[in-house]
Amino acid sequence: MIVKAAIHRETNKPLTIENVDLADPSPDEVLVKTIACGVCHSDLHALHGAIPSKPPTILGHEPAGVVLAVGDRVRNVSVGDHVIACTSMFCGNCTQCIQGRPHLCVDRGACLRGEHETPRITLGGETIHQFADLGGFAEAMLLHHRAVVSIDKDIPLDRAALVGCAVTTGVGAALNTAQVTPGSTVAVFGAGGVGTSVMQGARIAGARQIIAIDVLDDKLKNAEIFGATNVINSTSVDPVKAIRKMTGGGADFAFEVVGVPHLLEQAFYCLAPHGTAILVGAIPIGEMISVNAGHFFLEKRILGCMMGSNRFTIDAPHYLELYRQGRLDLDAMVSQHEPLERIDEAFTAMESGEVTRTVLMFD
Ligand SMILES: [Zn+2]
Ligand SMILES: [Zn+2]
Repeated sequence: MIVKAAIHRETNKPLTIENVDLADPSPDEVLVKTIACGVCHSDLHALHGAIPSKPPTILGHEPAGVVLAVGDRVRNVSVGDHVIACTSMFCGNCTQCIQGRPHLCVDRGACLRGEHETPRITLGGETIHQFADLGGFAEAMLLHHRAVVSIDKDIPLDRAALVGCAVTTGVGAALNTAQVTPGSTVAVFGAGGVGTSVMQGARIAGARQIIAIDVLDDKLKNAEIFGATNVINSTSVDPVKAIRKMTGGGADFAFEVVGVPHLLEQAFYCLAPHGTAILVGAIPIGEMISVNAGHFFLEKRILGCMMGSNRFTIDAPHYLELYRQGRLDLDAMVSQHEPLERIDEAFTAMESGEVTRTVLMFD
């Protein structure tokens, strides 16, 4: 099947729109017509080389669409189903999967085609890779069936797409990783798509105070829509002092959602005794943090977080039920829609901080 795709060929160069050839589904694969795909910071990091990718590669990892065809062994979705795809594809057999942590699957390669098999995607004989094993910036995607979950057809697919990454990561960080408790105080460093999703998760969990920290006033204003009760612009005040004062002694939970070591240190220092700092942001591999070890006597903790500790095949339908009830706001997350050809403009808008999410729409 020939489809149009946005391909990342060189670091920091614009994506190229090209026609690629998708193979037929193998017995465990699903062919999905892409309807919508959110544009996430990780796509931009891949373009800049901060996250490893293997050019030529189709970026995009927050897609939703309709199933066009399924392989013989696929049982979880059928032709015509509406689906969300998520990069937390899992083998179902490894020790992490069996212990209930499929997001930490150590054998996801079992869900990919082998080196000697026909590649999923080619262009004139050249293999084209899928970023995050998805490649959502294309008119169709060929995926392992454990990378998709079927959803109800009344949910608009541009909203549903956001659940594939930003919402699963942010809401999951609050509900699954940190397990934010009712009545607690929460600080969130970074008020973009994932940061505001953390705030929504904290609101759903019943936090009494949700403090948003960012450097852009527009983003802080926006954060109030998603549950922020207090905001701090860290260009004008010391956020650690401000948070300790606002909370009367420190936050119970503090999330770093930007991916900057210094902010994780601030998240640790703003905690109350027994507080938990959670690293959600994509800190580049090899970066170090340094904190005063004496604080650990106060039972403070630092937790890692991978994609919101998700089990997306059950989390995604739950989140969409919360959306239907009006408890999770996906509508306000969508700032604008663009066609595939305007992907570079979407990246520019993201870098300027003017949008929560651009969603690419396909015909
Ligand atoms: Zn993402
Ligand atoms: Zn596994």
